[in-house]
Amino acid sequence: MADENKSTQVVVIGGGPGGYAAAFKCADLDMETILIDPEENPGGVCLYRGCIPSKALLHVAKLLNESEEAKDWGVKFKKPEVDVDKLRGWKSDVVKKLTGGLGQLARARKVKHVRGIAKFLDAHTLEVKPADGNKYQLTFQHAILASGSRPATIPGIDIKSDRLMDSTSALDLKDVPSSLLVIGGGYIGLEMGTVYASLGSKVTVVEMLPGLIPGADRDLVQVLHKRLKDKFESIMLNTKVVDMKEQKNGIKVTLEGKDVDKPERIFDKVLVSIGRKPNSENLGLSKTGVQIDNKGFVRVDAQRRTAEPSIYAIGDVAGEPMLAHKATHEGIHAAEAIAGHKVSFEPMAIPAVVFTDPELAWTGITENEAKEQGLNYKVTKYPWAASGRALTLGRTDGLTKFIVDKDTERILGVAVVGVGAGELIAEGTLAIEMGAVAQDVALTIHPHPTLSETVMGAAELIYGPATDYYRKG
Ligand code: FAD
Repeated sequence: MADENKSTQVVVIGGGPGGYAAAFKCADLDMETILIDPEENPGGVCLYRGCIPSKALLHVAKLLNESEEAKDWGVKFKKPEVDVDKLRGWKSDVVKKLTGGLGQLARARKVKHVRGIAKFLDAHTLEVKPADGNKYQLTFQHAILASGSRPATIPGIDIKSDRLMDSTSALDLKDVPSSLLVIGGGYIGLEMGTVYASLGSKVTVVEMLPGLIPGADRDLVQVLHKRLKDKFESIMLNTKVVDMKEQKNGIKVTLEGKDVDKPERIFDKVLVSIGRKPNSENLGLSKTGVQIDNKGFVRVDAQRRTAEPSIYAIGDVAGEPMLAHKATHEGIHAAEAIAGHKVSFEPMAIPAVVFTDPELAWTGITENEAKEQGLNYKVTKYPWAASGRALTLGRTDGLTKFIVDKDTERILGVAVVGVGAGELIAEGTLAIEMGAVAQDVALTIHPHPTLSETVMGAAELIYGPATDYYRKG
């Protein structure tokens, strides 16, 4: 196209929460910025096929569950009727509004959004393939690679079938299958399983490892597992899917594991959610000095600079944890580093949230990690049965946990399982980043009656009984 810029100060490849945040910050810092992404507007996986559409559907799942549970409080609703087309439309509207808003923000900041795909020709040149035009070359002073990640597939099991879904097609919500097998007990599988179970699917989860949500402490996962066991048809741990074949009435799945009593089962649909892979291939990175580790992540330093000084990398492509908020903060850091600011990406805590029912969230160090690192720590657990607010919500299935350095009383980690845990965890992250000791949280007046009092309660327990929870020893 004749009017395309052929050179720019900064080019950002990928318009997800890392890429658009980086591009916006570059523009705010007065750098000429081009953002390249295949979609009509910025948003990336998070907005188009990740965080946002899944949370919109989970909100509806919550409503359906609560309408069912209200009978225990003397309120009986008729069985809800779900209009799948309308629900899909509502979810898509949410995505459209948010991504459209990002498009406006890009224009307001004079970030030039090129709809297309880019790959490196060398450390200062990209080949850009626009969605609606001919290929051209773009030279840049700095590039920020934010190409994100994609769903991983099961090696050796390669069937093509409309009944086989990944997280993207599961979010498309084509229909509500009568039975759904979720392969993988990580956060994406459990969130999508929750959505489909509440819409009426009989959901079975298989997980290769001995527990759900690897990475989180087992005492918290147990609380979630207990409730999911009631909502799902079954949860099979230590179990592997070794074969899948499409047949007329569904997908025949072969399972392997010591507790498997029926190795062959048929499911209407199967969702594969076994993790995500960084998008570091097909980008021409071999023509630059960028280095990639054995898991496919781009190696970066504390400024998010790669081994090639003109190229930065952020977000899912630059390593774990593959979370939107981590990507955004890295993007801002990379932009500031390019502008010459003295910055370093060294968070003390990156919160992780599983938006199931109940939610599970943790920040800072887990107890497992504290153990592995041989730290001298103390743990307290505040059960939600002691929370007035939890009782008023009919949801005492929760636990708030503190991991505190025994010598300094500094808060090392906070974890919460329970409704709204995803909101509560922010206090823990702030406390850790501020270098707070448990006493700081225990002495902070928390509003009553709220679930946030459980955070105060867990902090109080470091020093003895909490006001509303007495525990000897
Ligand atoms: P992405 O969002 O992956 O975006 C990368 C963009 O780069 C894409 O638009 C892609 O098309 C584009 N791109 C790739 N290659 C090129 C190229 N060569 N040229 C131009 N463009 C290119 N995280 C959370 O924090 N909270 C959640 O609740 C959450 N829920 C999730 C639910 C699901 C179902 C999924 C799948 C993910 C979820 N995530 C969640 C993870 C989150 O979506 C990612 O961590 C986040 O999107 C990563 O952001 P990013 O900027 O690295 O890249």
